[in-house]
Amino acid sequence: MTFLTRIAPMSSAIQVYPIPALTDNYIWAMVDRSKTHALIVDPGEAQPVNDFLTEYQLSLVGILLTHHHFDHTNGVEELKLQHEAIVIGPNKDGIESLTKAVTGGSKFTITSLGLKFIVLDIGAHTKGHIGFYTPGKLFCGDTLFSAGCGRIFEGTASQMYNSLCKITSLPDDTLIYCAHEYTLANLRFAHVVEPSNEKIESYIERVTTLRKQGLPTLPSSLQLEKEINPFLRCDKPEVIASAESYAGHRLKKAEEVFKWLRKWKDGF
Ligand SMILES: [Zn+2]
Repeated sequence: MTFLTRIAPMSSAIQVYPIPALTDNYIWAMVDRSKTHALIVDPGEAQPVNDFLTEYQLSLVGILLTHHHFDHTNGVEELKLQHEAIVIGPNKDGIESLTKAVTGGSKFTITSLGLKFIVLDIGAHTKGHIGFYTPGKLFCGDTLFSAGCGRIFEGTASQMYNSLCKITSLPDDTLIYCAHEYTLANLRFAHVVEPSNEKIESYIERVTTLRKQGLPTLPSSLQLEKEINPFLRCDKPEVIASAESYAGHRLKKAEEVFKWLRKWKDGF
């Protein structure tokens, strides 16, 4: 069985499929209802994308890039040349293969899929990291993961905190398309931070079952993340208490709680 038959399609004008790549990356593919055109996000490899396009006889219309890391961009040049696809990505991340550079607040339409996107500036993992929001869906690269968030390589904890606040201001039913299958490892940390959060325990069970079957745990939803992701729960008493215990002193603001959680997770 393939991903196209294993993942139940959503009732939407488009369907979104995960193309597994490298060790634990997902290249997300948006496909129109007539199964003609595909738009992909963060191709760290070209081959799995080409296999996907060939198997389902799709034509690649575009590539969206969230940030410059090789595991999100290594397949771009080859795919761009082979398919004459447009490449849309952040203006501040130094990516040479872009045909269109965008920044926070930019809007664009992919006509062949009938999709309108707005760009979110969600930097900190990399300086120019962006997310692509279309109603009901966010492609957030390495900024937000299920039960976790991205490492801060080129920004500050404050910048990452603000980036996550931009995401949490989206509608709760927004589906979250992260670029890595890190959910189970992230949940082990979440459980240590919030041992009495029963939602985390039941999610661990669900995710363990999915992974045993070789299925992705993504997309998540913003509503679920608000219930189980410690990095989005920096105002909750148990999260504050755990972060204070790790820091060794009182933490007055949610942003400080976030900073210590991120530091804790980096060495977890
Ligand atoms: Zn990255």
